[in-house]
Amino acid sequence: MKYVMGIKYNQLKRDSTSCILQEVESLFNTIYCKKIFVRYNEYISNFIAKECSCMANIIIKNDLTMEKKIDLMRQDSIFDVADDDSVCIPDLSSIKNEVKSKKNLPKVPKIFMSNECIFNCAYCECRASNDTRYCYTNDPKELAQIAVDEANKNGQGVFISSAIFKNADYTTELIIGTLKCIRNDFGYKGYVHAKIMPGTDMELIRQAGLYANRLSVNIEVAKSEGYKKIAMNKTKENILTPMRHISRLIKSAASEKSRYAPRFATSQITQLMAGSMDESDYEILRLSKAMYNKYDLKRVYYTPFQYKHPAKGYANLEPISTPSWRMKRLYQADRLMQLYDFTPEEIAPDFAPHLESDIDPKAAWAIRNIHLYPIEVNTADYEMLLRIPGIGVTYAARIIKARKYCKISHEVLKALGVSLKRSRHFLTCDGKYQGEKCENIEVYRSLLAFPLDAPGNALTVNAIEDD
Ligand code: SF4
Repeated sequence: MKYVMGIKYNQLKRDSTSCILQEVESLFNTIYCKKIFVRYNEYISNFIAKECSCMANIIIKNDLTMEKKIDLMRQDSIFDVADDDSVCIPDLSSIKNEVKSKKNLPKVPKIFMSNECIFNCAYCECRASNDTRYCYTNDPKELAQIAVDEANKNGQGVFISSAIFKNADYTTELIIGTLKCIRNDFGYKGYVHAKIMPGTDMELIRQAGLYANRLSVNIEVAKSEGYKKIAMNKTKENILTPMRHISRLIKSAASEKSRYAPRFATSQITQLMAGSMDESDYEILRLSKAMYNKYDLKRVYYTPFQYKHPAKGYANLEPISTPSWRMKRLYQADRLMQLYDFTPEEIAPDFAPHLESDIDPKAAWAIRNIHLYPIEVNTADYEMLLRIPGIGVTYAARIIKARKYCKISHEVLKALGVSLKRSRHFLTCDGKYQGEKCENIEVYRSLLAFPLDAPGNALTVNAIEDD
């Protein structure tokens, strides 16, 4: 026989929380409650959720205030890059100011329609089997108001995401309702990025794209077997089909000449988790490259796979903690493919398919191909300049521009802002070499080492893109 009991504790203070827990525990033991619904006030909510996490049968039901919902969304959210327009490649005194590094990329807040998911991904707090989560589902109007407020506060836009509430189509309809409200009722014209659920109906994708600037479906794993292992309800088909459809709709809208044609989102992105499948970095980069080519993705975002606490339905999954430095290296490698025209095979060849924590992929490639160096900066083409460690898209463009006015010397390089610390080992200026004469490549490795797993060795987005 099942017993369900409701307990209402609205005015309790912190001291009383342990009393609640004791009482809950004794209820389990004495009347064999199957489930206990605990209503709580905001003050004790976090404490209860934390302490009760071991009691799988407790379902915490709540009547959350709007402030609390926003707070929860913020806790649940990570920031998503909103815009990443290409670096523009535009005389000696002004070149340094004209060809600039990219500004820090804008970040937009992510807000959730619902965190009440029917899917059961092992790594996600919103998974269906997580009985201890706080569940909320917003009303589209309510969420639109939050979205516009957040977008106006942040000044750069908003990302509307959601867990899969009831089913993919229903959730997408709620998101479309929110998007319509943002555009039509609140008149917000800024940047809006909307998440598309795996398996969403094609027509609903089209409708979402009419109101959003960017759409995204997360690929999640680098190998299709990975869905069974960590995201049992997701399949390659229910992710790639919407991705393919979005790509077609973006292309079709871009080729539309009529000014009266309905507008459609102009970009799509995806997110890929590294570390869940023992996959190599080469496998990840090859998949990313294929998706860039096939689905015209604007960006692939990489996240580390983390599995620390057992999730129901994943009895055989061992705890995994992917180091965050791997994401930095993947971002560097990704930019090498997209901005520098490197291939996945060049970045992570057969004999070295994993990126290294102590050396960046471009420096690693240069050391493997040391016979190509030093490169003469006065004659090298743009593509070869980009292959010099320490010279990225910004500095290569400055050098090309400066060559119209003078011979490039080491002093000119410095005046253009090029750091010679790394680059001097790989270039000559009018035949002059100022690098170390290294006997073997291990010396080059030690000169270029930047161990990302060492404390304090952080990489900024600009550093990733401009080296
Ligand atoms: S579908 Fe998304 S929200 Fe739902 S459990 Fe999986 S990762 Fe979490």
